[in-house]
Amino acid sequence: MDFVRVAPKITPEEQASQHGEQLWKSDPNACCNIRKVEPLTRILSQYDAWITGIRRDQAPTRANSKKVEYDAKFGLMKFNPIAHWTSEDVWDYIRVNNVVYNPLHDQNYPSIGCQYCTRQVMPGEDPRAGRWSGNDKTECGLHK
Ligand code: SF4
Repeated sequence: MDFVRVAPKITPEEQASQHGEQLWKSDPNACCNIRKVEPLTRILSQYDAWITGIRRDQAPTRANSKKVEYDAKFGLMKFNPIAHWTSEDVWDYIRVNNVVYNPLHDQNYPSIGCQYCTRQVMPGEDPRAGRWSGNDKTECGLHK
């Protein structure tokens, strides 16, 4: 498998000078567009399909995800092979197959995004409560 690293068009320093410091606070949608959505849009334009790890139990916005669907946002087919898995299914698979995982998961970070937009969750909180905490944003814009 060849991994392809895709970078935003501008560095964090250029972003700060063009759009202001801490754009993730003042306009997180613009920040996600620059750092995530535009780069993925650019690379996906070369392909006929993509495969993601989204699951229906992750968030209400993902509850209707199909295993195979047309992704109108990016204009290609989208495969979500573990859409029906629960969080427990994922952890069972990790343990049985000794899969390497992000150690932050063991420190109350069930969902991990960018450094500035992820916090630990407290007992009883939604697993994605630590993403864009204090903002009504729930998705970066890749899965709409
Ligand atoms: S998750 Fe936060 S820091 Fe990352 S791109 Fe989106 S707004 Fe910017």
